[in-house]
Amino acid sequence: MQLYKDQNLRVHNSLSGKKELFQPINEGHIGMYVCGPTVYSNVHLGNCRTFMSFDMIFRYFKHLGFKVRYVRNITDAGHLENDADEGEDKIAKKAKLEQIEPMEVVQRYTVDFHNTLQKFNLLPPSIEPTATGHIIEQIEIIKDILEKGLAYEVNGSVYFDVVKFNEDHEYGKLSGRKLEDMIANTRELTAQDEKKNPQDFALWKKAEPQHIMRWPSPWGDGFPGWHLECTAMSTKYLGETFDIHGGGMDLKFPHHECEIAQAEASTGKSPVKYWMHANMLTLNGKKMSKSTGNNIYPSEIFSGDNNILSKIYSPAVVRFFMMQAHYTSILDLSDEALLASEKGYHRLMEAMTSLKDLKTGATSDFDVAAWKQKCYDAMNDDFNTPILIANLFDAVKHINLIKDDQETISSEDKELLEMTLNAFVYDVLGIENQALTKDDSKALTGVMELLIQIRNDARANKDFATSDKIRDELTALGIQLKDGKDGTSFSIN
Ligand SMILES: [Zn+2]
Repeated sequence: MQLYKDQNLRVHNSLSGKKELFQPINEGHIGMYVCGPTVYSNVHLGNCRTFMSFDMIFRYFKHLGFKVRYVRNITDAGHLENDADEGEDKIAKKAKLEQIEPMEVVQRYTVDFHNTLQKFNLLPPSIEPTATGHIIEQIEIIKDILEKGLAYEVNGSVYFDVVKFNEDHEYGKLSGRKLEDMIANTRELTAQDEKKNPQDFALWKKAEPQHIMRWPSPWGDGFPGWHLECTAMSTKYLGETFDIHGGGMDLKFPHHECEIAQAEASTGKSPVKYWMHANMLTLNGKKMSKSTGNNIYPSEIFSGDNNILSKIYSPAVVRFFMMQAHYTSILDLSDEALLASEKGYHRLMEAMTSLKDLKTGATSDFDVAAWKQKCYDAMNDDFNTPILIANLFDAVKHINLIKDDQETISSEDKELLEMTLNAFVYDVLGIENQALTKDDSKALTGVMELLIQIRNDARANKDFATSDKIRDELTALGIQLKDGKDGTSFSIN
C-alpha cells in the first residue's frame, strides 16, 4: 500500500486562503506546474529558494508514493520589462546589449540555471517546456478567447477584455482584489493607448520592425503575451484542470490572476485546484536588489567571492538553511544565520554517519515509531520543514545519548531510525552529505589519530605547552577535541 493512503496531507491554498485537505483530482496522481525562470540573467538566490521549496514538495509527494508529473517552464520570449505590457522583451534587450542572438542569451542562462539548481541538489522536473516551443498552442488559445468574445484585436495586437470577463467571472479572486478598486486606482487611458481598459492585458503583441523575436499569426507578425505561455503549457501537459500551480509570491498578481482569467475564458473551467506560493528571501533584513548592492548570487556564496559573508558555505548548507524556514514565511539570509545552519548541518551529518556503528541493546529508551509519526505529521501540515528539522534534532540528541551509553536502542528501532532519517534528510529535504569522501576521511582520521597520540605523549611527559598548542591550533581550524572515558575523539564544525 502506498504511504499516502495513511497520511492526511493539508496544503495552504492561496485561492481560499486556508489550509485544505489535499485530495488530488485523479487518485494516486498529481499534476504540478511551477512558473520557471525568464532566462535573461544568472538565476537569483531568491528564485532558487522558490524552486527549492517546490523541489521539496515534489520530493515529498514522490516519497508518499504519488505519481507526479511536474512541469516547470523556461520563459524564453514574451516577458517584457514592465508587467503592464510595456517596454522591451527582457531577453531581446540583453541580446542587443551584448550583441548576440536572443537564443544565445537563452542558452547561456538556461545552462546557468540548470547548473545552479543541480548544485543545490534539485531534481529535474518531469517536463521543462519553453515558451518559444509552444507558439502554436498559444495562438490557438487566443483564437478561442476571441471567439468567446472576451478579447479584441487592435492594430495587430490582441488584448484580453478584463471588464467583459468580470461580468460573469471574478477577476482578482486569487490576489484578493476587486476590479472596481483597480479601476478607481489607475490612471485614465491616453489617446495612443490601444487597450479599452487599463486592466486589459496583451495576449499577442504586434512586433515593431526592429523586434527580432517574432512569429507569424492570424493578426500579423508578433509575439505572445507573457501570461499566456503558462496557460498554454500547463493545459497541454496537465489538462484543463490540474492539482497544483506554484510560483513565487510576486507572481500572484498580475501573472497568476491573468492565467486564471485566460483559462476560464477559454475552457470555462477553473484551471487549478490548489494554488501555492513561496515567500521571498531577504538579505541582512532588506529586500535583495542588484541596484542597491544588497544582493548575492549562489556562485558568490560557493566561491567566497563577496563582501557579505565571512566564509565559504557549501550548497548543502545553504539548502539546509533554506529548509529551516517554512516555504510561506519570509526568510532572511545573513552570515550569522548561515553559520548557525552550518553548525546544525554538521551535527546532523555527524549523527547520521555514526548511526551505522551505534551499539544496540535489548530495549529502546527512544520511541522511534512515535518520533517517525511526528516527522510525517510535520510534513503533512503544509510541508512544515522547520518542525520536521526540530524532530530530526530530537533524534540527533538520542543518537548522541546512545553513543555515550546513557540510553539504549534495540536493533529493530535502530533500523527504523536509520531508514526514516535517510528518507527525510536525503530524499525529502534533499540535503546531501557533503562531508568528506571516504578516502579523504580515512586520511584525515589517520592524521588526527597521530596528532591525538602526540598530544597524549606530551601530556604524559607533562609538556603542557605542546599539548595545549595542538588543541588550540585545531580549535582555530574548527576541529574540536573531546576527552572521554574511551579516549579522545574529534569533531569538525
Ligand atoms: Zn507562469
